[in-house]
Amino acid sequence: MTALAAQEVAGFIVAARAACDREAMVLDAFEDAARRAADRVGCGLTGGAANLVCASVPLVVPCPQGHGTPAHSTRPKAISTMAGDIKIKRAYHYCRACRDGFFPADRLLGVEARTTSTAFDRAVTAAAREVSFARAAQLVEEITGRHAPSVSRCERIAKRSGRAARALIEADTARAVCAKPGALRRCWDPGATAYVLIDGTGLPMVPSETAGRQGKQPDGTGKTREVKIARLATQTGCDKHGQPVLDKHSTSYVATFDPAAVFTTDVAAEAVRRDLAHAPRLAVIADGATWIWCLADKLWPNATQIVDYFHAAEHVCDLADLLKPHLPADQDPVTFTQLLTDNLKAGRIQQLANHARAIALPDQATKDKVAAAVAYFTKNWHRMQYAQFKQDGFFIGSGAVESSCKSLAEARAAQSGMRWTIKGADPIIALRALHRSDNQGDNRYNRIWDRTTPKTTPATATHQHS
Ligand SMILES: [Zn+2]
Repeated sequence: MTALAAQEVAGFIVAARAACDREAMVLDAFEDAARRAADRVGCGLTGGAANLVCASVPLVVPCPQGHGTPAHSTRPKAISTMAGDIKIKRAYHYCRACRDGFFPADRLLGVEARTTSTAFDRAVTAAAREVSFARAAQLVEEITGRHAPSVSRCERIAKRSGRAARALIEADTARAVCAKPGALRRCWDPGATAYVLIDGTGLPMVPSETAGRQGKQPDGTGKTREVKIARLATQTGCDKHGQPVLDKHSTSYVATFDPAAVFTTDVAAEAVRRDLAHAPRLAVIADGATWIWCLADKLWPNATQIVDYFHAAEHVCDLADLLKPHLPADQDPVTFTQLLTDNLKAGRIQQLANHARAIALPDQATKDKVAAAVAYFTKNWHRMQYAQFKQDGFFIGSGAVESSCKSLAEARAAQSGMRWTIKGADPIIALRALHRSDNQGDNRYNRIWDRTTPKTTPATATHQHS
């Protein structure tokens, strides 16, 4: 930065102090005045440069079909940038043969079909990715000190970014599916274990999205649609207590409202992209839903399957709650729950089931409920060998699956009063999945705003596309 002349600084001080009535606030006054000055200069420079580009467009340019197309009229456009709102005046070209018009300058400036700069898009998207559209509009105002964009504008911008995120994910998926064998090979640490954590969670939907679908309400209808989530991560080290922990910067997410078959394809492609097939060990951790184990059997028949310990422990509590009213008088309910939990921890699933079955139950309805609860354990006994898994150094979940779902989908999209359409929710889920995918700094999120147009001078660029 070049040094400012003492005279300029002195002038600035006088002006800033004049604008502030309290002595103690003087640094704040300097900062405020400097920021406003910077915005004025930045806005002027950005707008001036943009208008120079507009003026550089030749009077006749080829239309997309190659017809020479003359300028028809000049039309203004307002564009929001981080420095402030600018106004450009650019020529509208109308092709008589195609009966269609276009703005060559918009293409050059990268603002075709939008009225925002990339930095402005990024800021609004970052806020709307994390909080509701209404709150995002407020946040942008608070942080930038500029007028809040309208809530609907925030929504439009975030969803546009989200659709770009989805397109990017789909392109990566397609590339992984078509990759030559060995093209995506990576160098694995011999002590590494790759994990695929899978879960699903329901997000609240407008009635039209759930009409005619089987749901979890007592009458068989539903108010939510399931977003399926897979978290792919690796683990090489342990924490100070010797517990295996997932490696930092090793996570990537797959998240979709699509049915299980499509989700399976997406997860398979992400596993190819991550070269999971060549990991020294592979484990699948999930909550026990049948469709997930079908997916695991199909994709990785040799992987170790583990029911997330957190989910299994929850099921133990549910089972204990069912049995507590029927325990013999000499059996303490707390000790009984502990007994079941100890058996679970040790992976003694048969004993756990036997303890539960030993309790005398009064009626058939209770017996059926208990039988169903016990079946969850007997069906998954081989996925609950926790003592063995721990001895073998496997991470056993403990809420990582659940918290992935919560932080990826529910925290943003299941707040009270929210009702989504799939079309509206999917871009936000895609944004969050990409943003939280933090695999070895491959920075896919930033690629949402990549401009693929090669660098050219304005005058020649208009003649290049055909
Ligand atoms: Zn034409």
